[in-house]
Amino acid sequence: MLSILEVKKITEGYSRPVVEGEAYYESGLLFGVGLIEKKGTVLRCQGLAVQTSATSGKPHEIDVEIDLKLEVGNRITSLKCSCIAGLSSKCKHAVATVLWLTRHAEEDLSDVSCTDLEQQWGKLKTSGKPLLEGCRLTELCHFKQIKRAEVQVPEETRKKWADILTKCKFYN
Ligand SMILES: [Zn+2]
Repeated sequence: MLSILEVKKITEGYSRPVVEGEAYYESGLLFGVGLIEKKGTVLRCQGLAVQTSATSGKPHEIDVEIDLKLEVGNRITSLKCSCIAGLSSKCKHAVATVLWLTRHAEEDLSDVSCTDLEQQWGKLKTSGKPLLEGCRLTELCHFKQIKRAEVQVPEETRKKWADILTKCKFYN
């Protein structure tokens, strides 16, 4: 939904943040990006990123504001990450989040329906499941899958999903 030019813009032409952000993205440490609010052409999104220094800690939150009516390469109006380096907006989490947005469509954004991240994170932590072992974004109630158009899913895939879902129970 975003052009790669947005990455160029936020990293101000420096390649190091791009390299680090891409490596972070490729390693699957970004849970995903959700949509908090959409008002006209303005979208407020949030990414959740594992802390590489403390993988069981609360994830970093990356807040991105996009205005789709602005010129390509200038559509990010605000970008912040909760990590120490985050205020510069060039941290790897912020870059990874923007990269995600360049590689996904708007429909791929999860619906951020519950704002109490702290609480959800606590539940996830106490569940004892190793965080980096295939934890899916939708397993945090923080993110809920937006309803999609009807698609045909093969029986085999369906079974696989059911398997995944029943193996991970984080709440109740
Ligand atoms: Zn960061």
